Amino acid sequence: MKKQFKAESKRLLDLMINSIYTHKEIFLRELVSNASDAIDKLHFISLTDPSVKVNSDTFQIRIDTDKEARTITISDNGVGMTQEELQNNLGVIAHSGSFEFKQNNENENINDIIGQFGVGFYSAFMVAKKVTVLTKAYNSDTAYKWESTGEESYTINECEKEDVGTTIILELKDDTEEEKYSDFLEEYKIRSLITKYSDYIRYPIRMEVTKSRKKENSEEYEDYTEVETLNSMIPLWKRNKNEIKPEEYNEFYKSKFNDYEDPLDVIHFNVEGNVSFDALLYIPSRTPYNYYTKEYEKGLQLYSKNVFIMDKCPELLPEHFRFVKGLVDSQDFSLNISREVLQHDRQMKVVAGRIEKKIKDELAKMMKDDREKYEKFWKAFGLQLKYGIYNDFGIHKELLQDLLLFTSSKEKKLVSLKEYTERMKEGQKEIYYVSGESVEKIDKLPQTEKVKDKGYEILYLTDEVDEFALQVMRDYNEKPFKSISQGDLDLDSEEEKKEREKAQEEKKDLLTSLKDSLSGKVADVRISSRLKSHPVCLVAQDGVSLEMEKVFDQMPESPGLKANKVLEINSDHPIFEALKNVYQNHKEDLASYGSLLYDQALLIEGFPIEDPLEFSNKLCELMIQANK
Ligand code: ADP
Repeated sequence: MKKQFKAESKRLLDLMINSIYTHKEIFLRELVSNASDAIDKLHFISLTDPSVKVNSDTFQIRIDTDKEARTITISDNGVGMTQEELQNNLGVIAHSGSFEFKQNNENENINDIIGQFGVGFYSAFMVAKKVTVLTKAYNSDTAYKWESTGEESYTINECEKEDVGTTIILELKDDTEEEKYSDFLEEYKIRSLITKYSDYIRYPIRMEVTKSRKKENSEEYEDYTEVETLNSMIPLWKRNKNEIKPEEYNEFYKSKFNDYEDPLDVIHFNVEGNVSFDALLYIPSRTPYNYYTKEYEKGLQLYSKNVFIMDKCPELLPEHFRFVKGLVDSQDFSLNISREVLQHDRQMKVVAGRIEKKIKDELAKMMKDDREKYEKFWKAFGLQLKYGIYNDFGIHKELLQDLLLFTSSKEKKLVSLKEYTERMKEGQKEIYYVSGESVEKIDKLPQTEKVKDKGYEILYLTDEVDEFALQVMRDYNEKPFKSISQGDLDLDSEEEKKEREKAQEEKKDLLTSLKDSLSGKVADVRISSRLKSHPVCLVAQDGVSLEMEKVFDQMPESPGLKANKVLEINSDHPIFEALKNVYQNHKEDLASYGSLLYDQALLIEGFPIEDPLEFSNKLCELMIQANK
């Protein structure tokens, strides 16, 4: 049976085969890791289904080379694949739409693409001109042969294979000047690759090696062959932390969790007690491409006494730390544990709780000891932590609040809430913040000027979730959060306050007329306490803020929540004199002025204006009048 590769797989194959991807050698790591997974699966089935009988002592991965035929063969006695599985697993690379998602971007770096999907089985084509897979599933009597040269198509046919498991034969490409593929046929090379990438694999990786010995009763040497186990087989997480090199942690991570970049951080720990377990956790160094989509599955691998139970067990990780990858090995879990049971399992909850705390402690430590690294982490996953605060009505506030960073008006650097509150000005009672599209834009907002002038620091919020997160938090160490573009800002001295109230009272008629002319668009027009050099600004009354209104407006099913807007005018600005003049001498123009000022305030806040044409006409009229 001949079949075409799915289009997207074909394209990825091309990229892979022709790439100058420098780490071609990782093909061995990928195939050995697949073989090990396949044995894991059969091991697990045999332990949970009494009708499946296998002798776990015989589990092994074999590597054989044939210099003449230029082939490397990797065999396992794992689960094997049925015909259907062969087709589904090796006929498509991207099972879902994820590849199309990126397909239009021709300039995509090959490493990015490979990183997105994990190189997996297809990495074989980086070194092989032909790949043959012979496989027999544990519950089947028929074996199948899959063959492909990595071009348009592959074939699947029935074949003879006595034992259950999978054998993969790679026929190496011809040597070129740049690449000597025949190196991979050398014993030393394979030995070093296994030590480098696959030492921890828990099944023996065996190869026939040539050795030399003295002949009996003679001084001469003779060669003989012997099957040797190349790996130490000690799972990495069972080894002593102090004896594990960073490269070993990193290689393990890359091979197990399909990333091509080293992780940002490794958390390896062991707990003894009511529930005992080993955990090896990783924080990736970048946001996975599908992280904020439904496709991303959180969870940790679960092992019991070294036997793999399940992949991505979600109960082990809280939502706010869903970026963490890794595994947990605990002898206290039963092999027969099912997904349903896990959800209610008390031990599972205990383990999950310990893991959550450990991750938090590790992140807090990173923030303290290695700020640069923490900020890199923050760039990749900070958003997740802010969602974590917002979700579940803020019940994770205590846990997460000290991990948050915000850009501050001072030096435009990231600060934690602790750092902010510790350097608050004397007498400052609230934590000031303001939201906007970008730090640069926020920094220019008229509302910020006076606050900065008085020496207060402001947190600049640029993510949609920010304000919502602060709102559920309400305060930090009893210091409430306060938006500088919402409600009253208590910045003025008593004297200044009195003066403003007086001016407000005196110009009540003018302000009321302006408000009326804006017919319901604003809840009030007031003399501002926060403006310094700018003529006007828009603020919101308590409740829905201006930024929140924008967020709501963008929602597919907008709840239609609007901010109660207040137009504030700077009474120290010449525009105020102009308004007074208009009010006294050409009242009929006041509405025009009011509408122009309101539109300007909208623009400054990043809102669209309702009628741009009218705005333009009014502006022109004014220009013409001024030049009459
Ligand atoms: P991944 O391992 O990341 O899922 P691969 O492309 O390496 O991606 O493999 C695709 C699938 O093919 C695997 O998930 C597995 O189901 C199957 N597979 C690969 N190698 C083997 C093997 N040696 N034995 C059984 N199944 C295998």
